[in-house]
Amino acid sequence: MISDSMAMVLEERGGPLVPQSRPPLTPARGQVLIKVSACGVCRTDRHLIDGELPDIHYPVVPGHQVVGRIAELGAGVEDFHSGQRVGVTWLGSCCGSCDYCRRGEENLCDSARFTGYQNDGGYATHCIADSRYVFALPDHYSDLEIAPLLCAGLIGYRCLRFCGDSAKLIGFYGFGAAAHLIAQVALWQDRRVMAFTRPGDIETQQFARSLGVHWCGGSDERPPHLLDAAIIFASVGKLIPSALQAVRKGGTVVCGGIHMSDIPSFPYSVLWGERQLRSVANLTRHDAREFLDLAPRVPVHSQVRTYPLRDANRALDDLRDGQYVGAAVLTI
Ligand SMILES: [Zn+2]
Ligand SMILES: [Zn+2]
Repeated sequence: MISDSMAMVLEERGGPLVPQSRPPLTPARGQVLIKVSACGVCRTDRHLIDGELPDIHYPVVPGHQVVGRIAELGAGVEDFHSGQRVGVTWLGSCCGSCDYCRRGEENLCDSARFTGYQNDGGYATHCIADSRYVFALPDHYSDLEIAPLLCAGLIGYRCLRFCGDSAKLIGFYGFGAAAHLIAQVALWQDRRVMAFTRPGDIETQQFARSLGVHWCGGSDERPPHLLDAAIIFASVGKLIPSALQAVRKGGTVVCGGIHMSDIPSFPYSVLWGERQLRSVANLTRHDAREFLDLAPRVPVHSQVRTYPLRDANRALDDLRDGQYVGAAVLTI
């Protein structure tokens, strides 16, 4: 029996999140109950609160970078044991039988449920998850350090893969949670990285340089060399034509976010030359396994700003306002 279950709940569009005590949660067949210790704060949480995602059902508990320990096993769960440290990511479940799922594209499943969106997430003392989408975590990291890897790291890694192995010079537009993790992977892979921040954001540019990034500038600047690929982590549509103009012929621009402001029109010549533009949607369990195996080998370090669970609203405001470098993590 679990007592003192508390969650930060989104009751209506715009928020704020409201602390609520909840009745004890009980895992159904195939589920696990997790006692949460840390939960990363993601820009998607901000989009959820601001009503920028479709079909939000209220009330909902955000949070999809969940670290905790198994408190209770539902019937039939044999892959985990009580007390084991685990992580939950954005992909809460999918149908397993549609064409997308059968092709290994479970990230595109129309029936997928996402953590902290369709399923209550980790801005809470406790969280229920489908055990088939729960991951044992490498010992290399503390709870705080690993939380941002579970979305920022995973989605960022998927973006990096879509840049292609031949991309040796990559630009990152927006240097927050995902970029600071994936820049380390790209550098470890002997690629060169250029970081584009909000114009005048000297603190973030210094932070990027401290990680070994080769060039930093404002997103309104052109890089000194044409890029092989660019990843746009910021949710700013006008960055798409800028990034396309910064990549060479045949280069790729990958959009990493779930939501973006409208893209201004641009002449076809900006795309011409076999430049490619693509989005990354969600993640697969294969991505998670691959990245959780890779991260300790690099090793990827996370720069973390912590907030108590009850200060989740402040963490989300600070994310919007660019008040910290690296990633924010709620401690529970
Ligand atoms: Zn996320
Ligand atoms: Zn499916």
